[in-house]
Amino acid sequence: MQWKQVLSEMNPYKPGRSTEEVKKRYGLNEVVKLASNENPYGCPSTVAEFLRSSLMPYEIYPDGHATTLREKLAEKHGVSEESILFGNGSDEIITIISRALLDENKHTIMPTPTFPQYAHNAKIEGANFTEVPLVNGQHDLSAHLAAITDKTAVMWICNPNNPTGNLIPHAELLDFLQKVPKSILVVLDEAYFEYVTDPAHVDSLTLLDKFPNIIVLRTFSKAYGLASFRIGYGIGSSEIISQLNKIRNPFNNNTLAVAVATKALEDDAFIYQCRDRNEVQRNRYKDFASKNGLHMFDSETNFVLIEVPGDADEAAEFLLKQGYIVRSGNALGTPGYIRITAGTDEQNSGLFEAFEQLLLENR
Ligand SMILES: *Cc1c(COP(=O)(O)O)cnc(C)c1O
Repeated sequence: MQWKQVLSEMNPYKPGRSTEEVKKRYGLNEVVKLASNENPYGCPSTVAEFLRSSLMPYEIYPDGHATTLREKLAEKHGVSEESILFGNGSDEIITIISRALLDENKHTIMPTPTFPQYAHNAKIEGANFTEVPLVNGQHDLSAHLAAITDKTAVMWICNPNNPTGNLIPHAELLDFLQKVPKSILVVLDEAYFEYVTDPAHVDSLTLLDKFPNIIVLRTFSKAYGLASFRIGYGIGSSEIISQLNKIRNPFNNNTLAVAVATKALEDDAFIYQCRDRNEVQRNRYKDFASKNGLHMFDSETNFVLIEVPGDADEAAEFLLKQGYIVRSGNALGTPGYIRITAGTDEQNSGLFEAFEQLLLENR
């Protein structure tokens, strides 16, 4: 076979461990998964009801235009229907953007550590890329600007950033966007947008008119609690969206998923409730960290990146044996830390107990 050369240096995505696998391996009855930033409160209850009661035309191809969902989302965000692109998760939008703009003659810029799919897709397309180190968990935007070359086609911004959780102050983002040449697409990946509580935060959709070279990525996988359905979307100028649409697979979102996302959009109260409950839990992590003298990054998301004593793999393994699945920072580019999804009040109380055991063992 004549595989692309780059595949020899790459690995398929390694998902976190499933609760079933961990139960079996460690002989546990209860396992709490706090590793993938899913919504611990589930999805809107109206979605579950809808799924029980609705029959779909399963033999018919999906509406490749996702017409109703598109209408509702455009209305919700106050944007035109032509400015939205749906993906099979925002993961797929990242792939589509890379496929549309990157090749061997192009260059792209991203922070590190961050969501790994930006670099992963750049590699597949054979593009050169520059990874700009975070400073104190935060994008170093002036270094991103300094990395621009005449080949740069895409700049990736993860806001708030995964895995640190930091949010870019609006004035800094604005200043950055003003300095980026308009010939470069700036991707603002906002998978955790719904969780942001910083009162100074400004919705980046308000920037679309002023900056025709940005695309904002959002998803139904996190706060909406619909990760299994795989619906993400990008919002940008109709020109950007129509180019990307040429690459999108015609039926990339299935009928059931689109119907469910449409239903979930009706329930703003659920999202606000999850945001508020999450903030309370995030603050408990903050208190836990400061009480125990552990560094934790400022998070505006539903996860925290917190320091551990000793090796992060060992810390994650210790918590796993107690029934808590978390992500070791060794795999995220943040050794010495673990990433924990802020679960429910009860889940977090259990996690704190297990973490205290870990601290005792390492004294
Ligand atoms: C979870 C996540 C995504 C992927 O979301 P999907 O819509 O489920 O593909 C994208 N970007 C970031 C930063 C994420 O954390």
